[in-house]
Amino acid sequence: MQASPELSRAGAILRIDLDALCANWQDLRARLAPGTRCAAVLKADAYGLGAHRVGPALYEAGCRHFFVAHTAEGITLRSLLPDAARIYVLHGPVPGSETDFLAHHLIPVLNSPRQIEGWQTLARHRGQTLPAVLQVDTGMARMGLAPADLAALPELARCPGIEWLFVMSHLAVAEDPAHPANAEQLERFRHALARFPGVEGCLANSSGIFLGADYHFGMVRPGAALYGVAPQVGQPNPMRPVIQLCSRIIQLRDIAAGTPVGYGQSWCAQRPSRIATITVGYADGYLRSLGNRGQVYYGSQALPVVGKVSMDTLTIDVTDLPPDTLQEGEFLDLACPWQGVDAIADQAGTIGYEVLTSLGRRYTRIYTRSTAPATAGT
Ligand SMILES: *Cc1c(COP(=O)(O)O)cnc(C)c1O
Repeated sequence: MQASPELSRAGAILRIDLDALCANWQDLRARLAPGTRCAAVLKADAYGLGAHRVGPALYEAGCRHFFVAHTAEGITLRSLLPDAARIYVLHGPVPGSETDFLAHHLIPVLNSPRQIEGWQTLARHRGQTLPAVLQVDTGMARMGLAPADLAALPELARCPGIEWLFVMSHLAVAEDPAHPANAEQLERFRHALARFPGVEGCLANSSGIFLGADYHFGMVRPGAALYGVAPQVGQPNPMRPVIQLCSRIIQLRDIAAGTPVGYGQSWCAQRPSRIATITVGYADGYLRSLGNRGQVYYGSQALPVVGKVSMDTLTIDVTDLPPDTLQEGEFLDLACPWQGVDAIADQAGTIGYEVLTSLGRRYTRIYTRSTAPATAGT
């Protein structure tokens, strides 16, 4: 296959596997009882992977419920999806911006008494009942009505002007099934939901799905697991990896023992060494904490990042490869079958979510999608 000019000049290539993404959504949906809906969370540009491709791919796979954080994200996503897609905005309306939701056919998550009032006011002016999702806080003190707010609004279930589509809440420690906060939050959520007869619940994020059917209610809201992040700490990851990242070698050099490498001269060769400089740096979201800690791969061979992470480059100790294995212009792998986003996150002292949402704008992005029709028996 002839490489396109864009690929032949690319410094680093990020491959995003839309088939794996859709397979992950289908895998999660298959864990739910029939009738329980599986939404998809596409905030932060689909966790950095590109809502413009992720949204339509998931819609085609059957997803009809999409969550974003900001109104602007919702407006962008609206233009990418058919009308049948429901788009929920987790942050709700900024006061005064309620009409944007109608104009762009977005559904607000209402988190505070003030947001509820704003939505009711709009409904009154329009002489219409308007749909919304109510968020209640069950143990994060981050977003949603506090228990006291809920108690202070006794008429909430009949909130004139609002049609509650769901009551939702969010789990704080779902990735750790043994943590007692899960059962506590579930109990508080059931209690809140009981005030809204006939309204469905929506509690589980990716990890929450794996806490079992009690946590599923009418709809679940996975994000990270769709993009390949492991939903449970310390357990094998059932999700398919979605990204691969490789970066070009721009220079190879042999250095004598005692030669320092990189800013601050923080690494010094202990033996005669071969150093490869590759075209990824912290400006690309390769976290600085990976300096002298991260690793990249050549095939199945791990190679350590030595020295600090520069803005545009990394220096790799490739001494352990047989001489003449590498050439300038070749690629080394940063995210690959040997090292997924969770492994990179571990090395960096963070979580897979941050690795994904940090992925840089400078990568040449390739979206892969099999065009072969599904055949029976495969
Ligand atoms: C981000 C987010 C999700 C998705 O969480 P994951 O852990 O990525 O599955 C679900 N609900 C809310 C409220 C969120 O903010």
